[in-house]
Amino acid sequence: MKDVLIVGLGCAGYTAAVYAARYKLSVLLVGAEEGGMGMTAAEVGNWPGEIEIRGPDLMEKFKNHALSFAPLVEQKIGRIEKVERVGDGFRATLQGGETIEAKTIIFATGSNKKHLGVPGEDTFAGKGVTYCATCDAFFYRNKVVAVLGGGDSAVEGAAIAAQVAAKVYLVHRRDSFRAEPYWVEKVKEKTNIEFVLERNVTEILGELKVTGIKLDKPYNGQDVLAVDGVFIEIGSTPAVDLPLQLGCALDAKGHLQVDEGMRTNVPGVFGAGDVTSGSNYFAQFTTAAGEGTVAVSSVFHYLQAGK
Ligand code: NAP
Repeated sequence: MKDVLIVGLGCAGYTAAVYAARYKLSVLLVGAEEGGMGMTAAEVGNWPGEIEIRGPDLMEKFKNHALSFAPLVEQKIGRIEKVERVGDGFRATLQGGETIEAKTIIFATGSNKKHLGVPGEDTFAGKGVTYCATCDAFFYRNKVVAVLGGGDSAVEGAAIAAQVAAKVYLVHRRDSFRAEPYWVEKVKEKTNIEFVLERNVTEILGELKVTGIKLDKPYNGQDVLAVDGVFIEIGSTPAVDLPLQLGCALDAKGHLQVDEGMRTNVPGVFGAGDVTSGSNYFAQFTTAAGEGTVAVSSVFHYLQAGK
């Protein structure tokens, strides 16, 4: 039985693994994919110590650091389907039936990209509709694309897409952005980004693949913009399915409810990173790492207290 099962291979999970190893706790890290949301950051300029680094390169460093503590820290790639309490600990069952037992769990499960819910979105998913501008922009060299949203993901995504696409429409439902001013300034400097503000997309049009987006109000006299790709970057929802199986409480916004020690309402179960209500909902590398750190301190005290 491991001291701690860490579910999620992103910034929070790997940081928690590093701290747990230094507390001499045995760790199993489990996740379907390595790197989490950090993999989608084209350029990270707010991780102290690195003036600028690609998200995937930063996540590789996180992983290597965590796994440098082998055999105390082990990693398994897989999807956990079920978690349950067994005696004083927990049992997780992976897809395929393998089981894992641990005295405590840290859920660092992150979040899933939100869907817009308009006609055409599902039809053209993977045929011009994607949910990660920074990951997929490369496929739209010299094409026309639309990025939807007004947060960091959309605005950063538009800036990255503009490096390769001929033209980028940044479509946002309001007239001001919630993104970091750094990225807003960047997109304003780009001559091939056009702001389509105070507009909603009501339909994604196409035949074999995307050909356009329909707007709720005309823009420059047209209610359809011809585009080859649509990047939907309208936020994400916390991945709480597994904590819910253990009876963990959520907050009003649907995040895993944690206290200042990253403890959930279920003894022995902790949360860290984008899945939680911690850090004032500010989903950053730094906050995820901080939450992973605090969660391990609480795990350590929980185990020391023998509960
Ligand atoms: P977000 O901050 O929640 O922003 C979502 C955006 O989509 C908002 O502008 C919102 O409009 C819009 N939106 C939401 N639902 C919509 C709908 N149904 N139709 C049209 N527009 C809709 O999400 P995010 O940009 O993915 O960022 C999530 C978190 O990750 C944030 O904490 C962010 O700081 C962090 N993040 C950070 C970085 C970075 O530091 N470089 C990069 C990516 C993400 P309103 O503004 O009108 O609400």
